[in-house]
Amino acid sequence: MAKNEQGTMEKIVSLCKRRGFVFPSSEIYGGFAAVYDYGPLGVELSNNIKKAWWKTMVHEREDVVGLDSAIFMSPKVWEASGHVNGFSDPLTECKKCNVRHRVDHMLESIDVFADEKMSVEEISALFEENKDKLKCPKCGAQEFTEIRNFNLLVQSNLGNFTGDWAENPVYLRGETCQGIYVNYKNVVDSMHMKVPFGIAQTGKAFRNEITARQFIFRTREFEQMEMQYFVHPDDAMKFYDEWKERRMQFYVDIGINEENLQWHKHENLVFYAKEAYDIEYKYPFGWKELEGIHARGDYDLSQHCEHSGQKLEYVDQVKNEKYTPHVVETSAGVARTMLAVLADAYTEEEVEGDTRVVLKLNTKLAPFKIAVLPLSKKDELVTPARELFKKLSKKYIVDFDITQSIGKRYRRQDEVGTPYCITFDFDSLEDKAVTVRDRDTMKQDRVTIAELEAYFAEKLD
Ligand SMILES: [Zn+2]
Repeated sequence: MAKNEQGTMEKIVSLCKRRGFVFPSSEIYGGFAAVYDYGPLGVELSNNIKKAWWKTMVHEREDVVGLDSAIFMSPKVWEASGHVNGFSDPLTECKKCNVRHRVDHMLESIDVFADEKMSVEEISALFEENKDKLKCPKCGAQEFTEIRNFNLLVQSNLGNFTGDWAENPVYLRGETCQGIYVNYKNVVDSMHMKVPFGIAQTGKAFRNEITARQFIFRTREFEQMEMQYFVHPDDAMKFYDEWKERRMQFYVDIGINEENLQWHKHENLVFYAKEAYDIEYKYPFGWKELEGIHARGDYDLSQHCEHSGQKLEYVDQVKNEKYTPHVVETSAGVARTMLAVLADAYTEEEVEGDTRVVLKLNTKLAPFKIAVLPLSKKDELVTPARELFKKLSKKYIVDFDITQSIGKRYRRQDEVGTPYCITFDFDSLEDKAVTVRDRDTMKQDRVTIAELEAYFAEKLD
């Protein structure tokens, strides 16, 4: 179906709740804004996305290693990175209706894109430049107050028992890549990495977003999948182009329709950036950033070198050369990928006068690969079907479902994207075979239990 069709987003949100993918946080207490919980199927889907990312980014590459740095870091890290002073949402107030708006979102509405890492000065300049084209989204007036900034870092009292911790807060990390920069030297020394090489990590980050919106697209707590690739300054753009290509291919490989993916070039760069592109996905609410790929120069390592007093240069002993590596960053979000995957897979089909909702998920990402469904609740079927479940679940994530009619169970598995349903019926006791139903074609195969493992190995491995 058309992804921008009205109501698609509502249908996805409703399916996510109904089928255990995503729940609003603290719902029994009326919810908690801009935070979501992943339910039993959501955690499987997000784990599968992270596994697919880790496999391509770390396991299949000899030049990239993994890391899991802590959420809490020295507050000095965030001073060096510029987040304490510069990491903020720029707000302006309409002088007529007094409603506050995020300046970068207003600019976006007239196709002027601000980099999220821009300073107050940089974004104010963009705002001034385009002021005559900007209207209050609420009332249409064109008079605004000066830009005020709200810092996005989330503060905590970790390790501070004095009561006045707001003076010297410890932050929850605003991005995962700072953990990579501060461990750059540890990784070079312990792993003998030679430039070019990369460090990858997935993990939670926190931002005090003022206007969180669009379901799990922009939330205050979120999970990133970031990789920093350290290169010789002369080679930066060559590797930048290579990573651009690989990252786009990743989304195609996890089953996203190429027509729903596009490149977006950043025109207004932060001062140190060499080039920045986003991979955008055509969400039901429009083209939005799925992943950022940035050539960041030597800014990050130089900042940490200056603020920590430690030497973070790379020594090339073969060429007898010393330099600060440039960084190519690939930065993706787990929830954004999940939302893109769900929107892309969501399908409604007419089947015998009925509407069938099916998630045509790539088998790599599907929460359950197989569902085992005994035709009746009688022990004579449930017991051997459960044996089959036990056997298959050693290798695949399998659901075992005995409630309601077989037709309803098929529909439920379609809705959560399970590629194969096995029906264990009364004939199975005699012929030692089961019916395997394909999610997309709804075709059914009779397969002997002895051949099942080979059958699925061909379909799923
Ligand atoms: Zn207004």
